[in-house]
Amino acid sequence: MPDAVVDAIVEEALSGAGGFVLDGYPRNPTQAETLTEVTDLDVILSLEVGHEVLVDRLTGRRVCDDCGTNYHVEFDQPEQEGVCDECGGDLIQRGDDQREAVENRLDVFEENTQPVIDRYRDQNGFVEVDGEQSPGAVWTEIRAAIDEHSRT
Ligand SMILES: [Zn+2]
Repeated sequence: MPDAVVDAIVEEALSGAGGFVLDGYPRNPTQAETLTEVTDLDVILSLEVGHEVLVDRLTGRRVCDDCGTNYHVEFDQPEQEGVCDECGGDLIQRGDDQREAVENRLDVFEENTQPVIDRYRDQNGFVEVDGEQSPGAVWTEIRAAIDEHSRT
């Protein structure tokens, strides 16, 4: 989607919001510039996960060809390998979860999004969270960061 369209959607959504969470936005410096003009951020969370861990997480995803239920070969296995628990359908790896596609997605992320992280790094409310911990530990750190920095 073009930046102008994404920015317009975000601006419209924020105009009536008393509070909000943006996940995966802004994705590039142009979007970050727009967001700065629209609003101030209380907390900026950067979940840090190493390249190889990301590759494993993404390439391990499987989806049911029939009902769309998601699985993971390591973290969320079906009862029977390759078969959907919900409907008995075949589990497949989507094209954009294959290794080469994942590497491309990560390259795009690093090129576009790293400058956004660098832009916010020195700003008040920026918190880096170790995203390789257990989901519970990640959540605890996120809660603490929000409690510390959000205006009540
Ligand atoms: Zn299914």
